[in-house]
Amino acid sequence: MEKEIAPFHADWEEQGYVDRAVWHKAGDNGFLCMTMPEAYGGAGADKLFSVVQMEELARAGFTGIGYGLHSEIVAPYLLHYGTEEQKSKYLPLLASGAMIGAIAMSEPAAGSDLQGIKATAIAQSDGSYLLNGSKTFITNGWHADLVIVVAKTNPAAGAKGTSLLLVERGMPGFSVGKRLKKLGLKAQDTSELFFDNVRIPAANLLGGPVQENRGFICLMEQLPWERLQIAIGAVAASQAAIDWTVDYVKERKVFGQPVASFQNTRFTLAEQQTEVQVARVFVDKCIELLLDNTLDTATASMAKYWCSDLQCKVMDECVQLFGGYGYMWEYPITRAYADARVQRIYGGTNEIMKEVITRSMGLGGK
Ligand SMILES: Cc1cc2nc3c(=O)[nH]c(=O)nc-3n(C[C@H](O)[C@H](O)[C@H](O)COP(=O)(O)OP(=O)(O)OC[C@H]3O[C@@H](n4cnc5c(N)ncnc54)[C@H](O)[C@@H]3O)c2cc1C
Repeated sequence: MEKEIAPFHADWEEQGYVDRAVWHKAGDNGFLCMTMPEAYGGAGADKLFSVVQMEELARAGFTGIGYGLHSEIVAPYLLHYGTEEQKSKYLPLLASGAMIGAIAMSEPAAGSDLQGIKATAIAQSDGSYLLNGSKTFITNGWHADLVIVVAKTNPAAGAKGTSLLLVERGMPGFSVGKRLKKLGLKAQDTSELFFDNVRIPAANLLGGPVQENRGFICLMEQLPWERLQIAIGAVAASQAAIDWTVDYVKERKVFGQPVASFQNTRFTLAEQQTEVQVARVFVDKCIELLLDNTLDTATASMAKYWCSDLQCKVMDECVQLFGGYGYMWEYPITRAYADARVQRIYGGTNEIMKEVITRSMGLGGK
């Protein structure tokens, strides 16, 4: 990361995407799809390897790098649900960085309410599917060579008629829209995707016929790990912000004394460090549960919502302690503040997380 990412990340923020070379280099060095089996080009490592990578990327503020989504969201769908043919074909390409992966659920009119997606993939007489619709806010969307697209194969059946399709760059009718200009994550190529009568071969229905119309169940099964990933990044980014701020307030002098000498500064940092430590212990516990295959959706939702809320609070308070410099883009704390905000929105908004938690408490709700 110090050699291949740090020197370039600021330039990538300016251009709005990371250079593709950083994907190839990660692949060459075994840093993609580390938890995939060796037979499919991975390292067969346990998820802690990916956790370390996520923490290091978050700590350094390298938010343009979409390895996590590629390796720990896209690849696991293939591993868990893909046919042998799909796994053998795509996983080695994802592991080498020859292909970049994305997952497209959200649409302009359907984010929280995923059951309301409009994209359709209607079976044709030759067994293929005709895909129509559009997706938005897709991470890695502009670089993506392989997109797992959520679409309705049986629109009349609602959520029970949803499937996952493997859509490749270059398929006629598939086009990538503009890279979206965002508040933060400026080096991340978040994009719109359009599907206009894209003919998807039967072989590209994820999991084949047995998984047809099971897309929603697959999405739900993968959510705990996806949500925990957001919490892991939140804690690492928060700790980095505290560390930068501690260094800064010791150096910066106001009224002839370091900012660190004011009780407000010290108490703010003490409170933050306490809360981040509490978050860390909870997240570590969730990781333990994950490795034990017992992390449930409600617990992962608690981690996602609470840690991302905490991250935004920590960033805001740290920016305050930096004074005007905390508002200058050249300072990592400023970028971290901007980057943090989306953590409460994507992966299911924090309001949706609370709905999920209440359901586990027998409180019903939507
Ligand atoms: C940078 C970025 C990257 C993203 N990457 C991806 C990606 O790779 N793939 C992908 O598919 N999507 C991605 N998303 C989309 C993201 O998951 C959605 O934006 C998110 O789920 C919210 O959906 P929405 O934007 O439609 O908001 P809406 O659903 O319109 O929500 C608007 C507001 O209403 C609230 N709300 C909605 N329902 C309820 C309810 N039942 N109770 C209380 N409040 C409610 C929400 O919490 C929110 O505050 C990304 C988004 C961003 C910004």
